Amino acid sequence: MEDAVIRRGTSTGALLIKIGLPAILILLIIVPIAAVILALSSESGEGVNTGNPSQIAKNEIPAKYMPIYQAAGEKYNVPWNLLAAHHKVETNFGEGNIESYAGAIGVMQFMPCSWIGWGYPSCGGLGDLDIGWNTLLDLSVIEEYGGFGVDGNADGKADPRDPEDAIFAAASYLAANGADDGMIEEAVFAYNHSNEYVTKVLEYSELYVEAGSVTGGGEFVWPVPFTTEITSLFGNRPDPMDGSTAFHGGIDIAAAGVHGKSVVAAAPGKVVMSGNAGGYGKAIYIDHGNGLKTIYGHLSALNVPQGVKVKAGQEIGQVGSTGRSTGPHLHFTVEQDGKEIDPIQFFQ
Ligand SMILES: [Zn+2]
Repeated sequence: MEDAVIRRGTSTGALLIKIGLPAILILLIIVPIAAVILALSSESGEGVNTGNPSQIAKNEIPAKYMPIYQAAGEKYNVPWNLLAAHHKVETNFGEGNIESYAGAIGVMQFMPCSWIGWGYPSCGGLGDLDIGWNTLLDLSVIEEYGGFGVDGNADGKADPRDPEDAIFAAASYLAANGADDGMIEEAVFAYNHSNEYVTKVLEYSELYVEAGSVTGGGEFVWPVPFTTEITSLFGNRPDPMDGSTAFHGGIDIAAAGVHGKSVVAAAPGKVVMSGNAGGYGKAIYIDHGNGLKTIYGHLSALNVPQGVKVKAGQEIGQVGSTGRSTGPHLHFTVEQDGKEIDPIQFFQ
């Protein structure tokens, strides 16, 4: 050991020989363990962003917003469910150009002067509502005047009508008002100075998480990188072909331009079927072990043959409209022991 310390100049290989086996074992065993402990402790973090979505959350919150709440919550250390609750109470999960009678704008109902910064010249008093959109979205102007507008989706502008920008901005605002230090009630009051509002937001916030739950952390990779748009959820729905009530055993993922886009394996496993599967058209079935299986239906192309092993996130096919389908989309089913279960829970 002393030898190794003295000979700092030696090559790594020589150094390892000098240090000997015990040190290598320390490197191989202790370092990975430390890394795992570090990873675990950073995940549990401050404990404010650790709630599993409740059944109510799954039923009520449009699934496309979940990843945004999660990402914004993680970034600003604010509970994801608090962001969902604000979104619910402000605009009932709305998006776009929603204006209140009081002049609040967009998805999370920011006052224009909060968005651009109260230092902006015409923002004295109650705030000038005639700030042009171009100015309002301008990141350099927002920075100059200390506004809360955020470019959550990195498209070069901060747009309160854009859910990603608005939700990230709300998270930033709540964090700046103490939510990141656990002062949730104070932060909600700072968002909208009304006790009735605070009660409502906190109620929803609580409803959206399972009591005493710990985050699942999203075990699956989203199967269509091109879009997170869900056009049909798991459960009973009118059949898109004949209007009769039918049970939908998976989720449908679709958006304009989705035809031909990549479909990736949600988790590692073995392709147990790659071919024509009746109503599912061209389909791929992956067995993940422990009775868990995923199905990818209506594909236009099959890129992996039966029998191969795939990694999570590996491209397996392309979105199409084969089989019993009314337009290009991915039908994604999860089966546990042969029974169809709601796929959404694997992404939360
Ligand atoms: Zn479907």
